[in-house]
Amino acid sequence: MTPVWLIDVPTPARLPVMPDLRYDVVVVGAGLTGLVTALLLAEHGKHVAVLEAKRIGEGTTGASTAKISVLQGIRGQRIRRGHSRATLEAYLEANRAAQSWLVDYCEARGVAYQHADAFTYAQTARESKAVRAEYDVLREAGLPVQRLDEVDTPFPSFGAVRLRDQAQVNPMALLSMLAADIESNAVQIHESSAVRGVRSTDDGDHLLDTDRGPVRAGTVVLATGTPILDRGGFFARLRPERSYLTAYRTGEPIPHGMYISAGGPTRSLRRVPDPGGDLLLVGGNNHAVGRKGHTDELVSDLIGWTRRWFPDAEPIATWSAQDYVPIGELPYVGPMLPGREDILLGTGYAKWGMTNAVAAAHALAGRITGKTPDWAVPLSSWRANEIKALPAAAKTGAEVALELSTGWLRAARAGDDGSLPPEGTGRLDRRFLQPTATCTVDGTTTAVSAVCPHLRGIVRWNAAEKTWDCPLHGSRFAADGTLLEGPAGTGLAQVSPPIEPGHRR
Ligand SMILES: Cc1cc2nc3c(=O)[nH]c(=O)nc-3n(C[C@H](O)[C@H](O)[C@H](O)COP(=O)(O)OP(=O)(O)OC[C@H]3O[C@@H](n4cnc5c(N)ncnc54)[C@H](O)[C@@H]3O)c2cc1C
Repeated sequence: MTPVWLIDVPTPARLPVMPDLRYDVVVVGAGLTGLVTALLLAEHGKHVAVLEAKRIGEGTTGASTAKISVLQGIRGQRIRRGHSRATLEAYLEANRAAQSWLVDYCEARGVAYQHADAFTYAQTARESKAVRAEYDVLREAGLPVQRLDEVDTPFPSFGAVRLRDQAQVNPMALLSMLAADIESNAVQIHESSAVRGVRSTDDGDHLLDTDRGPVRAGTVVLATGTPILDRGGFFARLRPERSYLTAYRTGEPIPHGMYISAGGPTRSLRRVPDPGGDLLLVGGNNHAVGRKGHTDELVSDLIGWTRRWFPDAEPIATWSAQDYVPIGELPYVGPMLPGREDILLGTGYAKWGMTNAVAAAHALAGRITGKTPDWAVPLSSWRANEIKALPAAAKTGAEVALELSTGWLRAARAGDDGSLPPEGTGRLDRRFLQPTATCTVDGTTTAVSAVCPHLRGIVRWNAAEKTWDCPLHGSRFAADGTLLEGPAGTGLAQVSPPIEPGHRR
């Protein structure tokens, strides 16, 4: 499941961090938020380091559809439902400014990008109501959207909203250029350098515990998708959502716009320029992480849908990724704890991070340098009117509680017949009374604890990715229990005795 952007793309590996050094700012995470923040800070003469757990782009940014659009599906009406018109205007203004910064950056640095019109379209007559509502709230907020009766595409539509002259990019080309620019400002980016915790020191600094030893920082910026520290409880204010993407070669004409459906199952499309001929990218079928069985069927469903409208489409890549939807609909950008400027974060872009991450980076860097652009000032991690999101928080909390209890009930009912799961499958067992996650991948059977170390959710098998995913707050683990992403600080515990390869227990 490698994103099309990462296939055959040579990226130089960066060295892990050297322990015991001190920086003005340590940025944790080398996705779009982290790299733009680091670049802005470096340009202001700050002594910065970027610490990345994996490789640059191996988070969500390198797996994104990478539309750089201010028309964002039906986000406008979602925001407007819980916020004032002025708040929506400020959100759009921040996104517009971030888009323009990003396009100017690509232009100046020679990162190939394309202009394209963005469309939110109705897949059914029922969805046309949401399309009309999106048009109305965006018009009211001053965005020059247009209403269309249909879009000129092979797949049918029942009306659409269009915003002309948006943009799209190859996210890995963008991250590679940002990394090169950061390094040319004498800022080090360290890969394979996971941060496991952050402690305050008596002199007001912070010690970051990394796999390679401690690193000291005046200010810490968490640009890790969901924040890796539980302080501030952001995990409870975010809904982790996984989505699937597929890329195709096709002889059929590929529409030049960027399309997303107003309702579900989501269909999101764009064209990808490629030396071997343009590719078609189709995404969708999102769901809460760890709460869907048979995820491999969601990939086949996307392929089936695509072949219906582009009959000769041949898939060349399929992958999935996750992003975090804030319960209050607006991103969280700013201090992790109210009134404290020492640990900052940016998250909750609801799958529209190509602009929101850039806006967040300007707001975060501005807090540190004292030069926040006016349009980034309204971005905040703690809002007085967050109270309006309490019903959504209660619903999310109830869903989490339900997942927690049903997970443990499943574990209580699970047996252990001693057989090995068939290739490519995973199963919840109860081994010596411990809930155990047992799977067979590439001929190797492994058994690890099924209890997520974050808040003790019971993990579920993700057949598409061959991973164990936690339905509570979106932590994900490899077949052998290694932490892949999410708020859990460690992997799934090993169980003993281990399974002997190829043997029945
Ligand atoms: C399927 C999909 C399609 C999308 N399409 C679009 C789109 O078309 N347009 C759009 O605007 N947005 C889109 N988005 C959203 C957008 O891609 C994301 O919001 C954005 O890339 C998030 O950037 P980020 O820097 O916050 O996170 P990431 O890119 O995930 O970066 C976070 C980094 O932190 C690292 N990290 C995590 N934990 C640690 C740790 N403990 N120590 C060190 N490093 C750590 C990770 O390895 C990762 O590299 C999409 C999202 C998805 C899932």
